Formats: sequence, C-alpha cells, structure tokens
Amino acid sequence: MRVTSLLRDLLGLEETRVLDVSFDEVGLVVDVAPTWRRPRCSECGKKCPGYDRDRNRRWRHLDLAGMLVQLRYDTRRVDCPRCGVKVEQLPWAETSAWFTRPFEDHVGYLAQRCDKTAVSSMMRVAWDTVGAIIQRVVVRHQKRDPLKGLTTIGVDELSYRRHHEYITVVVDHDRGCIVWAKPGKNADTLRAFFDELGPARCAKLEAVTIDMSAAYIKAVTECTPQAQIIFDRFHVQRLAHDALDEVRRDEVRAANADERGDLKNTRWALQKSPWNLDGVETMKLAKLSNVNRRIFRAYLLKASLVAVLDRKQVNVAATKLEEWISWASRSQLEPFRRVARTIRKHTAGILAYVRSRLSNGRTEGLNGKLRTLTRRSYGFHSAHGLIAMLKLCCSGITLEPVFLTPGFTH
Ligand SMILES: [Zn+2]
Repeated sequence: MRVTSLLRDLLGLEETRVLDVSFDEVGLVVDVAPTWRRPRCSECGKKCPGYDRDRNRRWRHLDLAGMLVQLRYDTRRVDCPRCGVKVEQLPWAETSAWFTRPFEDHVGYLAQRCDKTAVSSMMRVAWDTVGAIIQRVVVRHQKRDPLKGLTTIGVDELSYRRHHEYITVVVDHDRGCIVWAKPGKNADTLRAFFDELGPARCAKLEAVTIDMSAAYIKAVTECTPQAQIIFDRFHVQRLAHDALDEVRRDEVRAANADERGDLKNTRWALQKSPWNLDGVETMKLAKLSNVNRRIFRAYLLKASLVAVLDRKQVNVAATKLEEWISWASRSQLEPFRRVARTIRKHTAGILAYVRSRLSNGRTEGLNGKLRTLTRRSYGFHSAHGLIAMLKLCCSGITLEPVFLTPGFTH
C-alpha cells in the first residue's frame, strides 16, 4: 500500500486527495488537494476560472497516534462572475478556518463536557481559539430555526467579565433551551430579537417573563403588545432580599460596640427562608428580634413577600400583596418603602406569575447552567465566544466524538 493511500484512509476526509507527506519540527505535514480539478467559488459553489494562489496554507487536523497533523495546500482564489474574487471552496474546512471540520467538531464535543484546561491542553489550542471554533460548530450543527414556533419566552441578562459587561439571553420556556443571545441589555438589544423574529411570529407570542427593568418592559410592550408580561419571581424576591441587606448594613453601621456583637454573622441566617434555618441560626434570629427590631422587621417583610409569591390562588395573592405593600410602606424602613413603590407599579405582572407559575427559574436548571457556563467561558475575549458556548451547550445541539473505521470518511 502506498503511503499516500494509507494516509488518505487514515485522515478520512471527503473529496480530498493526499499528494505527499513529510515531517516538520512539530509533527506530520500532509500535502492535500480537493479531488475536483477546477476551483469552486466558496460563496455560491460554482466552478470558476482561477485567479491567483495563496501558498502554503495550513490546517490543523485531528492528531494521529498523538502526533500533531497539519494539512498543507496552495489555496486558489477564483474570479466568480456572480460573487467577484473569492477564496475557493475546500472539502476539509470552512474558508475562514485554520482547522479541519472533524477537528472543530471534536473541540465542540469536548467543550460541551469538559473544563477550559482539559479542552485547551488536550486539543493543543488556546482557549480564545476554542471560542472562535465553537462559533463555527454552532452554525454547522444548528439544525432547526431556533426562533420557530415560540409562544412563551423568558428574557434575562447575564453579566460577565466581573459584571462590567452584559448579554441579553432569550429562552424558550416550552423546550427549555436558549434560542437567542446578544451583547447588551438595553431596549435596543431586545428589540433586535423581535426584529429578527418578525411581526408575524411576534404576534404569536403569548407570554414573556422578564425582570422589572424599564428597558425590557419598553421593548416587549412596543414589539409584542398582546403578550402577557410576567415578572420573574426571583427578580421580585431579590428586591426584598437587597432591601433587607441594606437595612442590616445601615443598622450595623449605626450600632455601638456591644450591639454590633449581636448583629455580627447574622447575614446568612437573614438570607435564608425560615424553613431552611438550622438551630443556631434560629437562635440568632430569635435574639435579633429583641436586640434590633428594625432588622427583624425587615426579615419578616422579606419572608412574607416570598410567602405571597407562593400563593396558588390569584385573588388571595392579590389581597396579600396589597397588604404587604401597605405594611412595607408603613415600616419606617426606607429600602422597603422603595420596594413597595416598585411592586405597586408592577402588580399586574407579579400576579401574572401567580396565575401562570412561569418564571425564568422554572426552565429547570437552565438558568444555573447558563451562569456556570458564563464562569467557565471566562477568558474569551469577545462576547461572541461566550454566546457560542451558551448555544453549544443549551440549545439542543448533539455532537458525537469523532471516530473513524477503515473505508469510512468523516
Ligand atoms: Zn460565486
């Protein structure tokens, strides 16, 4: 068997001829060419006259027995009557890539399952390069139009880069997957999603869960006025949670040395729900009710708002919410008076949650997964790497490890 035929079978690339093979300082270099003679335009696929050549271009392919493999070829440019001067189409790689498709798919498979270090060191590529690779993998493997058939969606913002930058993420509540993402978190960011969706599909949306940000409310009411706005319960709870924290901090600051001892280390106990407290924490809170009535009142306000949201009947929840607003307004705790005003303004959307039980957290585990992936993607230089990672792992893309048997191509 000739060595070129052997390699052709080992590489297993479709429509690819092996011309020669040699070693350089890093591994095996295989000279290849497409099986077709006349170059094809990479834009439209039409056979065109050649224009010029780019010498010695190289692509990483999967390692052979642990040795790094590179393909080498003088890429032609074509003069396409329709598209102009373009790079020729290649059977083994996308025109913009420095890696073969099987290599990229393998990276994608690993990136779905392994941490940053494992993917980078095993495939011998920088983490940022992984970000660029998975963007192409997502485009190649996204089978159906993700924006098709949407009826109930959730919109959320994810912060990355130590909370300095944001992306807006849209999830499909019915299928429990991410369907769209874009850098930014203002009204225009979300409007771009509705533009892509188009007026006909916007009109089919029944409900949208969002946080209470004015930007998202604006975009939703403008672009899909018939859809019910539902305020995400965890964002509503967070308002009370943050208000409690503010009260606690103010009180600790104002306390004398003796009092401060009692207020110390109550932060975690205060954040928990009453039924999650352990014995020590229950004691701490009981003591707190004598030592500092303001913090204790704030704690009760927070816990009872959670209880209102747990109510199953809308009319009961509506009455309880009204009671809560008036209690918080009279509480003499400024942070809670602010929360009361916000909640009063958004009552309809909060009660819509009680009716529908839809929230961004409902999409079982998806939110937590998105946040874990955001942390894992730390180090990508562009938001596009992060977005590709979210789509790779949370939009239903299935990838298989790349294996080959004799006579079969990738
Ligand atoms: Zn063309």
